Amino acid sequence: MKILSSEFIKSCASAEQFPQGELLEIAVAGRSNVGKSSLINSLLNRRGLAKVSRTPGKTRAVNLFQIATSDPGLAKFYLVDLPGYGFAKVSKSIRAEWGPLIESYVAEQPSLIAVVLLVECRVVTEQDRQTVAWLQSIGREPVIVATKVDKLKPSERVRTLRQTHRDLGLPEGQQLIPYSVVTGEGRDHLWGVLRDLVKT
Ligand code: GDP
Repeated sequence: MKILSSEFIKSCASAEQFPQGELLEIAVAGRSNVGKSSLINSLLNRRGLAKVSRTPGKTRAVNLFQIATSDPGLAKFYLVDLPGYGFAKVSKSIRAEWGPLIESYVAEQPSLIAVVLLVECRVVTEQDRQTVAWLQSIGREPVIVATKVDKLKPSERVRTLRQTHRDLGLPEGQQLIPYSVVTGEGRDHLWGVLRDLVKT
């Protein structure tokens, strides 16, 4: 599958600016520093599209990118970059950090077909766990990606990924997609999962 184009459309700071259903939406979320901008750039084969390491706590908007691909199912869609969480020193719930705007986007946006939630193996936080539980409770089963897997030694990889799965409280059988922007591992797998979601 080829990425034909990817462009930043806008930052939505109020619900009126959310897309109106003209295209499918796929959102990407995760705590700050989990590797979200890197993953978005890797997925789209772009270097500086999503800014890597932007100022913590600054972005509280829903950032929309319009993507065109060679796959008929995903010919055109919005990739939605949600604000990172985990900036607060005292661990607030992610919903408190995101605020009502982002929460309502995730819970109610009709054309949102998937929330891709990034976690870092070995560094699963309480907020990650709460986010998974909250998404499950509102019926938005997240697509979960374990980032930076190139940092794992081969000898610890299987055990660490299993532990991450357990730490997140995921049900047996729910997949965790290992991803590395360094090796490119996981890119085809994640695109495959997203394509399948469009078909169902
Ligand atoms: P964000 O805050 O979630 O957008 O995270 P960034 O994309 O800015 O990444 C945070 C840090 O992790 C940066 O120093 C990245 O270079 C690094 N990083 C991101 N993805 C990977 C990965 O797959 N492997 C390794 N080794 N480092 C990564």
